[in-house]
Amino acid sequence: MEELKILEPLFRDALFQFFLYMALIQVLSQVFLDRRIAFWVSSLSTTILWLRSFDPVTPLKAWGIILLVFALYLVPEFFFQLNLFLYLKGKKRCPQCYCEAHWRAKVCPFCGYLFKDVEKRSREV
Ligand SMILES: [Zn+2]
Repeated sequence: MEELKILEPLFRDALFQFFLYMALIQVLSQVFLDRRIAFWVSSLSTTILWLRSFDPVTPLKAWGIILLVFALYLVPEFFFQLNLFLYLKGKKRCPQCYCEAHWRAKVCPFCGYLFKDVEKRSREV
């Protein structure tokens, strides 16, 4: 039980509670509603609840973090066509069949698509 006491200040933190609540609604709406709208249902309902019942500063901080994560995900995708989450998993997306292939794969294992860097090299030769 001693280990749990270290976590206690974390659970008292309003920002942590906000994300904990959001995660709970996210799971519930993923199960009972739809995966595509689950994020919006959970984030907006948590924000509304927080504004009505608690302070308005915590949702502002939380949305700052959410937008930062969005930026970290969207900026590399937009400029370098790099999906950060796939990259961290060591995968890349096949443009033809949309399956996840290993990041070093030269041919898609699902549809046989030749990835770009291989195409460029074969044209140069
Ligand atoms: Zn493919």
